[in-house]
Amino acid sequence: MTGLVLRCVGNLCRVLLDGDGGECDALVKGNLRLKGLRSTNPVVVGDRVELQPTREDLEHPYYITAICPRRNYIIRKASNLSKESHILAANIDVALLVVTMIQPETSFTFVDRFLATAEAYDIPVVLLFNKIDLYGEEENRRLAEWQLIYAPLGYPTLSISATEGIGLEEVWPHIAGRIVLLSGHSGVGKSSLINALLPGSSLRTHSISLAHGTGMHTTTYSAMIPLAAERGGGYLIDSPGIKGFGTLEMNEHNAHHYFREFFALSEGCRFNNCTHINEPGCAVLAALERGEIAPSRYVSYLGILGDEEGGKYRPEQ
Ligand code: GDP
Ligand code: ZN
Repeated sequence: MTGLVLRCVGNLCRVLLDGDGGECDALVKGNLRLKGLRSTNPVVVGDRVELQPTREDLEHPYYITAICPRRNYIIRKASNLSKESHILAANIDVALLVVTMIQPETSFTFVDRFLATAEAYDIPVVLLFNKIDLYGEEENRRLAEWQLIYAPLGYPTLSISATEGIGLEEVWPHIAGRIVLLSGHSGVGKSSLINALLPGSSLRTHSISLAHGTGMHTTTYSAMIPLAAERGGGYLIDSPGIKGFGTLEMNEHNAHHYFREFFALSEGCRFNNCTHINEPGCAVLAALERGEIAPSRYVSYLGILGDEEGGKYRPEQ
């Protein structure tokens, strides 16, 4: 028997059984726990798991006996206090990145880093430009500039206002039936968007309990909030403190794989290990010079390689 993990508290998980088996409580089996860090529960929301009936324990009718391989996962980076990074959720289908031109102004660097890591973990991203009700001429000009950069790369770019209810119908086709991660700087309107998509169910204040009403502190807790069944179902991940996907290190040898337009061009570079920094015969630099690559994308790329100023980077020999 298999299922999808919706919530976890300690070693107890709420699981949606495959088929039409409904939801059940399941305990993580001891031998599975030992494989996790410090014997804690290694199961996270979004995990697909294998289950076995417990028989002897009617309150918790199933054991989770195995975790199916994860397509991707998100982590909360280690704080200074605890050196461990924690996996918060697995098997994300799509990430919504909320971006604002004003209050606050999102930077290209932030978005490009997010897109690169999402690309590395094979997670499609939809860019949601929020607060369009506040935009004046200058903000609309910048919005058009952003859309001209990202839409041709294949990233859907939607203009919305979470509080005014503008453009939200266009969001649904991207999230219906999927496991959805909502990201973006603090203050861009993530909570407002959740309230708009799920009226009456604020994510941050969503009542937190398993079947038997156990309260839990939000910081140690992740859950998947169901999207309306009449909209096609799916889940929003409620997980405060998400910092990134997986643990991939980006460097001059792999970063260009995650900038779609660079990767597409790199076949044309003279050297097949070209880092697109200063090599002769570089197709990426040539495209940049012709104005076919956005300078902001190239600046973000150099930033990821560790040179915030650009131009001075020298690859290790
Ligand atoms: P979060 O930190 O990303 O969850 O952002 P919030 O949802 O808490 O929103 C931060 C502030 O921006 C709040 O005062 C919201 O009312 C406001 N806000 C969010 N979306 C919009 C919008 O579309 N238009 C306007 N004018 N304000 C918004
Ligand atoms: Zn090159």
